[in-house]
Amino acid sequence: MNLHEYQGKELLNSFGVRIQRGIVADNHKKAVEAAKQLATETGTGWWVVKAQIHAGGRGKGGGVKLAKSLAEVEKISEDIIGMMLVTPQTSAQGKKVHQVLVAEDVYYPGANEPDEYYMSVLLNRGTGRNMIMYSTEGGMDIEAVAENTPHLIFTEDIDPLLGLLPFQARKIAFNLGLSGVALKEMIKFVTSLYTAFVKSDSSLFEINPVLKTSDDKILAVDSKVTIDDNALFRHKDLALLRDLREENEIEVEANAAGLNYVDLDGNVGCMVNGAGLAMSTMDLIKQSGGEPANFLDVGGTADAKRVETAFRIILKDSNVKAILVNIFGGIVRCDRVAQGVIDAYKNMGDAINVPIIVRLQGTNAIEAKQLIDDSGLDVISATEFQEAADKVQQVLK
Ligand code: GDP
Ligand code: MN
Repeated sequence: MNLHEYQGKELLNSFGVRIQRGIVADNHKKAVEAAKQLATETGTGWWVVKAQIHAGGRGKGGGVKLAKSLAEVEKISEDIIGMMLVTPQTSAQGKKVHQVLVAEDVYYPGANEPDEYYMSVLLNRGTGRNMIMYSTEGGMDIEAVAENTPHLIFTEDIDPLLGLLPFQARKIAFNLGLSGVALKEMIKFVTSLYTAFVKSDSSLFEINPVLKTSDDKILAVDSKVTIDDNALFRHKDLALLRDLREENEIEVEANAAGLNYVDLDGNVGCMVNGAGLAMSTMDLIKQSGGEPANFLDVGGTADAKRVETAFRIILKDSNVKAILVNIFGGIVRCDRVAQGVIDAYKNMGDAINVPIIVRLQGTNAIEAKQLIDDSGLDVISATEFQEAADKVQQVLK
């Protein structure tokens, strides 16, 4: 589950991580009130207005703007709220902005120049440990830094039993070229950041930029936080932060129905039992020249009700031109699944408007094929995997 920038910052702050202060608002009047509340005597007294959507690169897309007066806060918020924001990380249509974060301007002039760093916490899949990834080249596109100057990206692996050790936090601060007050601040920042990561059961933190202010404070200007869905049961407060408006509508509905569904770009809908079989079904569709429209694991109980729900969900995607049902009957007998497909089909009537290819293999596969062939419905049966994929290609032509 992804959080908005403002939610991520609040989470970090609750663990003692210093953040750029801000208040979220869903209309321009509230944005002005927020700006008034944030007003301080120090710094520039300006604000930055930031679109809250689940995508990065907002700055490049015009979703992050500096406001030098309350009138500007109002104007910019009015422009941003309700817009379709297109960034390098959204689709071409962009994402609708429902709220903005009004934050204090932290790039004020002072004794030193403000400086931007990059920092993330994530799993190192190579070592199976959490790691902190960091760079002096913050603020910009970290992918470009990784591509062009990989030696400027550092990583620090963390022992799961010992946690982040003090010498590691110091090393990170040194490698970022810090000294004096800023060094101490960075040590505190990294230490509390890592605690927040572990305690919230997150799978990704990405803070870009981490800012060193002109008076040597270290703070998070941006936050991308992903919490492990499988741990949400023990973080009821965090689970409430879910913003379903940001998520794929069909996926949300499928999840509510207990189906493992991931929306993809292709035209062949898949209904499969078991994640492994679902993956190989997608591979085979691709190898036969098609493109899977989704990943869908219906799970162990492929009865008529579940099959019907799965059909309805797959058909919500208007790109779907054919559906391949590929079920292995182990504990669940194939003839029962076949009956489920037939019942669901009859029940749905005209709602099924694309060809369906069914491949059932395993216990009672022969009886299942017979049922399908005798049903008189417009369902094409197949026994072999390749045969099923070929039949999909035929109906698409
Ligand atoms: P992203 O583009 O979605 O990654 O959004 P960020 O939160 O990283 O903001 C983009 C850029 O806006 C940052 O890299 C900063 O350069 C700039 N920015 C953010 N906060 C402030 C601020 O308080 N003052 C000024 N002047 N610039 C800011
Ligand atoms: Mn950023």
